[in-house]
Amino acid sequence: MKAIAVIPGQQNSIHMQEAPDPKPAAGEALVRVLRVGLCGTDAEINSGLYGEAPAGSDYLILGHENFGLVEAVGGAAKGIKPGDYVVASVRRPCTECFNCQHGRADLCSSGNYTERGIKGRHGYMAEHYTETPEFLFKIDEEIKDIGVLLEPMTIVEKGAAEAIEIQKRLPSKPRTAMVFGAGPVGLLAAAALRVRDLDTLVVSKEDATDTRAQIAKAMGCRYHSVQSSPLQELGKQIPAPDIVLECTGSSAVGFLAMQMLAADGILCLLSVTGGDKTELVHAAEINRDLVLRNNVVFGSVNASPTHYQLAIEAMKTAEKRWPGVLGQLITTRLPWTDFAKWFNRQVSGIKSTLEISS
Ligand SMILES: [Zn+2]
Ligand SMILES: [Zn+2]
Repeated sequence: MKAIAVIPGQQNSIHMQEAPDPKPAAGEALVRVLRVGLCGTDAEINSGLYGEAPAGSDYLILGHENFGLVEAVGGAAKGIKPGDYVVASVRRPCTECFNCQHGRADLCSSGNYTERGIKGRHGYMAEHYTETPEFLFKIDEEIKDIGVLLEPMTIVEKGAAEAIEIQKRLPSKPRTAMVFGAGPVGLLAAAALRVRDLDTLVVSKEDATDTRAQIAKAMGCRYHSVQSSPLQELGKQIPAPDIVLECTGSSAVGFLAMQMLAADGILCLLSVTGGDKTELVHAAEINRDLVLRNNVVFGSVNASPTHYQLAIEAMKTAEKRWPGVLGQLITTRLPWTDFAKWFNRQVSGIKSTLEISS
């Protein structure tokens, strides 16, 4: 079969190649990939920043945001049948840590987990893949056109769900929320907060007439462009939020967000910031505010099977409440042979996909 792969560690090594046709073992499903979503992680792997080939392979098939159709099942693959639309999760457990052994590879404490398309396992930019049903999530007809957004949706669902879980420490319930960044992750975060009926403000760099702002507003969010007033001034203009999800990719914004929280508020950091940038921060002020306001700051990565189910439900709710709006996040659908266009930064927009099969 054809696949898009990189040589991990080698800058701009992305290419299309032949790879062995996967054969489902007993209990496994054979999935035809319909499309994959492209994100910053794919770009960073192609930059050689990280990424790891599977043992015994000198290449890594890229791609983790996936959507496909089950073509066959080997033996009795429980709960999955040919014709089902599915999304496969990304992370696979390590063999030694307690959290992985209890279904929470997203909280792996050994660091020896693997991830399809990222770390030690081939990804989904290929004609087919095989997987056990344990790691496959069935996508209903009503959200199949946006199924490729499920994986990034699970990331923000985990952030929102854990923030709310942690806040059960309070007698009061969170009411207001703020999202920093209106990229795909930020807008999906806004959706996750809105389906929970939180009064949500999206803050981003784009002008208020930008499609991103329109999508946020269509989901009932308010939108603030930092073009109209800088982030540092925003704190003086709006009531402090109970929950903040940081999705800009900027570490500086993470520290600013710490100073914007309401008393007892919580900040979830979702940006994997590459590089080793240093930043001048008001350490004493930030520390004092966090203490005096009983604030919580936590980081969140990956997602558990529970978050996949929550994300499926959230997407169904979003589709009912705001039909077609999540679909507007997919601004470019490239034939997969045109992958180089995206990696060479010739494509702009919110979310791009590679269309692999129909
Ligand atoms: Zn991604
Ligand atoms: Zn583990």
